[in-house]
Amino acid sequence: ILEATAANDASRVVFSFEFFPPKTEDGVDNLFEKMERMVAHNPTFCDITWGAGGSTADLTLEIANRMQNMVCVETMMHLTCTNMPVDQIDHALATIKSNGIQNVLALRGDPPHGQDRFVQVEGGFACALDLVNHIRSKYEDYFGITVAGYPEGHPEVIHDGVASPEAYANELAYLKKKVDAGGEVIITQLFYDTDIFLKFVNDCRQIGITCPIVPGIMPINNYKGFIRMTGFCKTKIPPEIMAALEPIKDNEEAVRAYGIHLGTEMCKKIMASGIRTLHLYTLNMDKTALAILTNLGLIEESKISRSLPWRRPANVHRV
Ligand code: FAD
Repeated sequence: ILEATAANDASRVVFSFEFFPPKTEDGVDNLFEKMERMVAHNPTFCDITWGAGGSTADLTLEIANRMQNMVCVETMMHLTCTNMPVDQIDHALATIKSNGIQNVLALRGDPPHGQDRFVQVEGGFACALDLVNHIRSKYEDYFGITVAGYPEGHPEVIHDGVASPEAYANELAYLKKKVDAGGEVIITQLFYDTDIFLKFVNDCRQIGITCPIVPGIMPINNYKGFIRMTGFCKTKIPPEIMAALEPIKDNEEAVRAYGIHLGTEMCKKIMASGIRTLHLYTLNMDKTALAILTNLGLIEESKISRSLPWRRPANVHRV
């Protein structure tokens, strides 16, 4: 993933898609149908999340294996420390290694359901930095490691809608430690104020973080989901976005059309700043993300045949 994001020539913009493990078997089938449609457009990689508190561990491992070896897309698995003693972390890492997966998004994770503070499980890790250190010391350079970055600060340090300058500076210093320990790529938390993201990139560069910083774009698909997610992450919503959404919030189609418009404009501004990588939080939905990439001229929807011609034989998929 590092190679694909860093060695990317100036004229080419690359993109990636994130998915989460569905709750039902039908949901999983449905996800793979959508994923195959999306993979036809040649994302650099696709990633699968690790359910909160480790709730989807087995399913995440199974989906990651299927992505890498059956969909044949370069796959990154998220891994968190929540409720994970080190032997379980090693089980997860050994499993993906044996399945040929070389990319991990190393995360601390949120506190388990019902707790408001992250507590280190016995025999486990306290933060993502510990996990990065562990992966590097035990698996050397086998895994490409990605870490999370927070343009507005992590929600735990955001109070009354903003992180204090000291807290923000501490966050950046800690992010640099994650990179210095072995994090090779940063993917950001979602944001809707593009200037905040661009400032974050600049601030990271100022303190010597030189690795690719990939913007995490979450297209708005429906109003309630948008409000829930931005509330959970304490994301700033620029007033013009609320003003545009308020009159159409009960009209799903209009909200989705606005989400596509907004996502397109955000990506255009990011690309105009010289950033050549986009990471789309798909929420397991294909249409909005693909419409944004089509608007940006990065894919041509009409050129894709639906007969799975992109399926390649397994094991020929190194980046
Ligand atoms: P850390 O990097 O450990 O940081 C957490 C907080 O603690 C930060 O405020 C940090 O500054 C502070 N901190 C920790 N250690 C130190 C230290 N030594 N010194 C100073 N400050 C410190 N959650 C899931 O459950 N599953 C997922 O699949 C998932 N995917 C995600 C993908 C992305 C791109 C992002 C941005 C988040 C994702 N999350 C996921 C959410 C994430 O788990 C939470 O935001 C979690 O609360 C923090 O994880 P982290 O890896 O950023 O933690």
